Amino acid sequence: MDTSVAAPHASSAFVQEYLDILAARDPHQPEFLQAVQEVVVSLEPVLDRHPHYRQQRVLQRLLEPERVVQFRVPWQADDGEVMVNRGYRVGFNSAIGPYKGGLRFHPSVNLSILKFLAFEQIFKNSLTGQPIGGGKGGSDFDPRGRSNSEVMRFCQSFMTELFRHVGHNTDVPAGDIGVGGREIGYLFGQYKRITNTFTGVLTGRAPGWGGSLLRPEATGYGAVYFAAEMATTAGGSLEGMKCLVSGSGNVAQYACRKLLELGATPITLSDSSGWIHDPAGIDEEKLQFVMELKNERRGRIAEYCERYTSATWTATDRDAGSNPLWSVPADAAFPSATQNEINDTDARNLVEGGVRLVSEGANMPTTPEAQDTLVEAGVKLGPGKAANAGGVAVSALEMAQASQRLRWTTEEVDRHLKRIMHDIHAVCLDAASSYGFVDDYRHGANIAGFRKVADAMVDQGLV
Ligand code: NDP
Repeated sequence: MDTSVAAPHASSAFVQEYLDILAARDPHQPEFLQAVQEVVVSLEPVLDRHPHYRQQRVLQRLLEPERVVQFRVPWQADDGEVMVNRGYRVGFNSAIGPYKGGLRFHPSVNLSILKFLAFEQIFKNSLTGQPIGGGKGGSDFDPRGRSNSEVMRFCQSFMTELFRHVGHNTDVPAGDIGVGGREIGYLFGQYKRITNTFTGVLTGRAPGWGGSLLRPEATGYGAVYFAAEMATTAGGSLEGMKCLVSGSGNVAQYACRKLLELGATPITLSDSSGWIHDPAGIDEEKLQFVMELKNERRGRIAEYCERYTSATWTATDRDAGSNPLWSVPADAAFPSATQNEINDTDARNLVEGGVRLVSEGANMPTTPEAQDTLVEAGVKLGPGKAANAGGVAVSALEMAQASQRLRWTTEEVDRHLKRIMHDIHAVCLDAASSYGFVDDYRHGANIAGFRKVADAMVDQGLV
């Protein structure tokens, strides 16, 4: 198997040195290597300017997770069949706070994907300005098509092992793909039962039992606030923009809502079976239908077209080499489904279709080649570790509210969220220009995220 990752600056011996070490150690973890490459490519001028990072091997240490736990999750289906899944938790870095990051339940989950997500989370959490380290976990369990009882039994079995490794001062998981309010409820219930404690061990709880208002909305809203900051900096605004949104889950839904509030028009959505294009725009009433369809009935996005004849549905063709959703002419794009959903061909189609701004709601949705194509064409690209940090930022606010036994109003949380997204945007631009990458948000996010964690690691010695 070819384990080399094409670096955006392939000539850089600096990047290759680190990738070679990892590729030798973890030869079957392409997503992890991709995530590392995307960060390391920004760090050469940082290590040159601060030689003590090199002397203390801060980057080598940062590339190795502090701990990885893998465990068996046995459970019983409704028909009595015994099922066995795999559970994981990666505690990547706790230099600036307890591990924090979601749980993903999806059949594609493996250690490479969770290590990439946990690694990204280190920098994202650092950018929020909140005291949280980077972690991620999950399982190859697929909740789609499973009854509530099956999901509950799975979550209880998963937590029966995970509880040993998490805690409100140690590691605080949350939701991600396949883990929403329902799963968080079942996981929390089992943790509380086993440990006989009611603590803020998970975020994304319902507001009635310790959750923060606005947590479900925070990632999608934050990605749109970040886009609004990028648009303002470029001398424009989101108002009147036609927007491509992928996915139809938590992030996509609330990105659509905030776009509508700011006068923009979402015109696409997708799920793993296909995508819809509604040239008339997905307005609030149609969005309500999508929320009921995906969150309550757990149906497929194709049903949108049965209800709204202005729209067309196209099935996903995994062998096509590109995703036609990204060919629809528009002004802005919000990839909000999953990793590597925009390849280089898609990026060229986005540019040709008139897109000037991309804000990544999903984690690592754009391949390195596609990122270069977009940036070279002058598209403003908000990387996921900055643009989708609103979710984990409000999770940290949920932790703060839980420890003080306080509850803030929606308006208060929204004010914090807006300020945090504004600050992340400013910090990215500032770090980018300080190290010679003017206006490039990717490098800015990597450098600003790295410096805070690196300094904490130096302060804390060789641990
Ligand atoms: P959800 O499970 O709510 O929704 C995911 C959506 O993406 C669904 O429409 C799903 O389709 C689709 N999807 C998932 N996997 C694939 C795939 N392999 N191919 C095509 N479509 C796919 O998840 P979220 O909205 O929470 O997460 C979306 C992205 O945002 C992820 O990258 C996640 O890591 C990231 N993110 C989420 C945060 C959060 O707060 N929730 C925070 C920061 C980042 P289907 O219904 O068919 O499964």
